[in-house]
Amino acid sequence: MSIIDRALKANETYAKKYDRTLGAHPTPKLAVVTCMDPRLSDLPGILGLSHADLDVIRTGGPAVTDDVLGELVVSTRVLGTKEIMLLNHTGCGFTTFTDEELNAKLTGLTGDASPAPMRFFSYKDPEQNTREQMKKVRSHPWIAKEVPVRGFIFDVETGLLREVHRASKDAAA
Ligand SMILES: [Zn+2]
Repeated sequence: MSIIDRALKANETYAKKYDRTLGAHPTPKLAVVTCMDPRLSDLPGILGLSHADLDVIRTGGPAVTDDVLGELVVSTRVLGTKEIMLLNHTGCGFTTFTDEELNAKLTGLTGDASPAPMRFFSYKDPEQNTREQMKKVRSHPWIAKEVPVRGFIFDVETGLLREVHRASKDAAA
């Protein structure tokens, strides 16, 4: 049985105990942009907030793409979240290659260069990545200035969050 087939079987059991009040219109309080890495999946545990309070936007990295900016606009303007958290982490898979390397590797592996150059949004330094994200989100004209935008790095070794401040000595560079 494939993993998805097993998941479908488990879903039948889940639905029997499902809290149907969760089907009501959601009112999340915090928008979190984080990586697709499974170590970031327990956000209610990491942040001490319920699933219902969290509007989670996940990409690899995470990359704050135009799509993510659109989702943050909807999250704050339509769904009503009040704050934005940009949640990076140590040991990210997207720091282990460059876009150029992966494009070359996959072109070689498949013998097909037609998708290249594909954007994977690889990066090297989570701190710098976080600062660039904060700048990008903060400067968007449709994200209200009253909405706090804060960046953090989750340490996968300790489980602790560390805040990245925009006003660091490197920020002006
Ligand atoms: Zn990651």
